[in-house]
Amino acid sequence: MRAIYPGSFDPLTFGHLDLIERASGLFEEVIVAVLRNPNKQPSFPLEQRLEQLRTATGHLPQVRVTSFEGLTVNFALQEEARVILRGLRALSDFEFELQLAHTNASLSSAVDTLFMATAVGHSFLSSSVVKEVARFGGDVAHMVPETVAVDLRRLFNQTA
Ligand code: ADP
Repeated sequence: MRAIYPGSFDPLTFGHLDLIERASGLFEEVIVAVLRNPNKQPSFPLEQRLEQLRTATGHLPQVRVTSFEGLTVNFALQEEARVILRGLRALSDFEFELQLAHTNASLSSAVDTLFMATAVGHSFLSSSVVKEVARFGGDVAHMVPETVAVDLRRLFNQTA
């Protein structure tokens, strides 16, 4: 079975990566799909986020990294994926994620949303937290892969 894992990944964190690694043991193919959202101004350009993901998932042959725009269910149908994967960190994620899952279910009954619990050590990690820490020169080595840490230093004009 094929699954898509959609998100902004702005930037990729160890929370995302852990979920991708575990999902790649559950599905024949996991398509990590970066949303091209015309309403959001990302911190990292699309190509850079794709590169971060490709570098970090290079050891996982079942994982494909791509981008999409428009409705997630349409992209899932186009890719013949039965499953949309989303991660849950805390109760605070739940309400929004459930609404999203119900919305997607109302649009297509051919695609199901599956939630994966965050790894316990990554429950505090989000792309925005990582950017806040990096912006003020904090150490993000335990939060993101090294290549992303380099991109963050470059974004905030810091030297290693
Ligand atoms: P979006 O803008 O679609 O929420 P994100 O890149 O922030 O994109 O998140 C993509 C998915 O990854 C979401 O389902 C989110 O809940 C999940 N996620 C983010 N951080 C973590 C984490 N630390 N552990 C598990 N799942 C996470």
